[in-house]
Amino acid sequence: MTDAMTGPEQHFRTCHLCEAMCGVVIEHQDGRILSIKGDKEDPLSQGHVCPKVMGLQDLHEDPDRLRHPVKRVGTDWVQISWDEAFDTIEQNVKRIRREQGAEALAVYVGNPTVHTPGLLLIPPFIHALGARQRFSATSLDQLPAMLASMQMFGHQLLFPVPDLDRTDFFLIIGGNPAASNGSIMTTGDPMGRIKAIRARGGRVVLVDPRRTETAEKVDEHVFIKPGTDFFFLAAMVQVMFADSLIRLRHLGEMVEGLVELRDALEEFTPEAVTDITGIPAARIRELAREFARAEQAACYGRIGTCVQEFGGLSGWLLHVINVITGNLDREGGMMFSNPPFDVVGMGPKGNFGKQRSRVRGLPSFGGELPTNVLAEEILTPGKGQIRLLATHAGNPVLSAPNGRLMDEALASLDFMFSIDIYINETTRHAHIILPPTSALERSHMDVGLAAVSVRNFAKWSPALFDAPEGAKHDWQILLELSNRLGESSTLGRYVKQGVQGAVERLGLDAGLDLMLRFGEYGTHAALAKKKTSVGRRVLSVLRPDKEGLSIRKLEENPHGIDLGPLRPRFPDALATRHRKIILAPQVYVDDVMRASEKMAQHVSHGMQLIGRRHVRSNNSWMHNSNRLVKGKNRCTAMLNPDDAARLQITDGQTVRVTSRVGSIELPAEITAALMPGVVSVPHGFGHGRQGVRMATASKKAAGVSVNDITDETFIDALTGMPVLNGVPVTVAPVMTAADREAGAELEAS
Ligand code: SF4
Repeated sequence: MTDAMTGPEQHFRTCHLCEAMCGVVIEHQDGRILSIKGDKEDPLSQGHVCPKVMGLQDLHEDPDRLRHPVKRVGTDWVQISWDEAFDTIEQNVKRIRREQGAEALAVYVGNPTVHTPGLLLIPPFIHALGARQRFSATSLDQLPAMLASMQMFGHQLLFPVPDLDRTDFFLIIGGNPAASNGSIMTTGDPMGRIKAIRARGGRVVLVDPRRTETAEKVDEHVFIKPGTDFFFLAAMVQVMFADSLIRLRHLGEMVEGLVELRDALEEFTPEAVTDITGIPAARIRELAREFARAEQAACYGRIGTCVQEFGGLSGWLLHVINVITGNLDREGGMMFSNPPFDVVGMGPKGNFGKQRSRVRGLPSFGGELPTNVLAEEILTPGKGQIRLLATHAGNPVLSAPNGRLMDEALASLDFMFSIDIYINETTRHAHIILPPTSALERSHMDVGLAAVSVRNFAKWSPALFDAPEGAKHDWQILLELSNRLGESSTLGRYVKQGVQGAVERLGLDAGLDLMLRFGEYGTHAALAKKKTSVGRRVLSVLRPDKEGLSIRKLEENPHGIDLGPLRPRFPDALATRHRKIILAPQVYVDDVMRASEKMAQHVSHGMQLIGRRHVRSNNSWMHNSNRLVKGKNRCTAMLNPDDAARLQITDGQTVRVTSRVGSIELPAEITAALMPGVVSVPHGFGHGRQGVRMATASKKAAGVSVNDITDETFIDALTGMPVLNGVPVTVAPVMTAADREAGAELEAS
């Protein structure tokens, strides 16, 4: 924090804007930011930052960022006090819960939630709200990876991450770290680490329907038709069995289901999948052999593998390939982080299909229903119809399929409240918005992302600026709502008030401090270790390890503390019943039949839609920064030159992309980076909707929302996830007035 009228000072921090966790140094004076640069002394990122880092300042200073609670009155918004905001929310929640039951209450938690330590207060808030229908960005993103971890390793949060610093063969499927800076692999400078793999003689191969920015930086890029990753992976596994390349190494005693796995995938030979994937059989066979024979290999799949028709099956085989080549939980393969808190131990193991959505009967995962049923659960009358929605840092109008239907649904709610810093496409439907402080006005520690870091690491940063008088941090808002909305017995109420009162008094950092102290590297680490003797535990309480982690220790090390390379964690970390890796869970074996039928009936589609992301953008929430959106229009429909010629589309011409649910119009960008038959539109745009109060986004980056044409009924039948990659569409040129004029002139001449 700063005193008035001092000289320039430096503040060290972790950038929270994406998963990379880059260390930054912010030079500031008298409450103003002078510069933001990469922190060369940060052990994880070593000075790397991306252009989005300027968003730290732009979000903080954005005049459109809400600083006070607001309520909607007609089409206007009026500032109200915190008391009025909380009272109104409390009255409406209790009224609707009393009149229509807890089934009528729903909550949606958006992606930025994972970038704040306030995340820890989300579960008590949801519990207190009593919402029976829960939704989040998980079912628009990484759910298949979590399901696979739950089915095979026994815990949904056991995410394997590539050991980038030691691998010599890195296979990336459906991921674009050059734009995303790494997802479910927190790296700080992923492309620097990928470059290092190649520099030490390793190989990096990318499989993707688009020659992405990452493709330019790897040894080989292989085009694959959208939505067919499962078939490619199944053929890789089939080759490994057929060529006797299965090499379990250290996992030999831990694996069960090898024969069932082989039998389930027998028919998916490289020749059988060539047509559906678009990859020559010889190339698949060669890749399988290369991967299996590499001494240290990591097969990593990301968003592209998740949001597709066979996303569940793809998530399964991504784990399988690493296991059957002995590359899971082994140096240079896919490993598990050893974070400063036991994130896995603290979180629930997960469950699948425990609940079914009322209208379509789609399965829940981890207590959440797929977000693609949210709109219909609001719009379909009957018992259990959602009438109240709470959102936390989420924008499902732009992120969920069929955004126009979502718009219609949110507009019909009896009551909606949002915890958010903007009046955006979603929160404009809210009756009350509660804005938390800016991220620079609170202390910061990445709580969830440490569990997917490619190197063990801990960092805590204090607030850079004092919070304005009367402002509330996200965790304070969540705590107040939890206090007001919870229903419990008298005793339960006293206990809850005691705990929550302590958190309120001591602050969230006190909770983080406790978690650190009892974590793997903490001052009381011995207490947290299951196999520690009673004597050592008592000693750990009486004589804490002064060198162990605590907030104070991290405060003394403002660049962060390197906790070393990833270390093997199995079998101790395995959470399955007999501490085995289940290679062929029945849920997947049953679903293989669906894929088999698809392969047998496969006919070439017309055009298929895929999404994309740009390095200066992060979903929908970075578009109000002028510095990040300026320059040429990035909301374009990318098309292969052959498709463009066949469809008579010229570069820059407006095209109409149409699916079952609607059309969008945007300029064409003709590029050989797209494989034929594929059209790519970035997600997160569509800020031109009426009522959005984000001036820069609406004027300079309005674009169109790709999710206005993704289809909430087109799903992966196993997981219930929407298909966002591989949506069948038509693409046609739009005759603008200028086109017609030019045509008339041509005719006249
Ligand atoms: S890659 Fe960019 S947005 Fe992500 S943490 Fe680093 S600087 Fe921030």
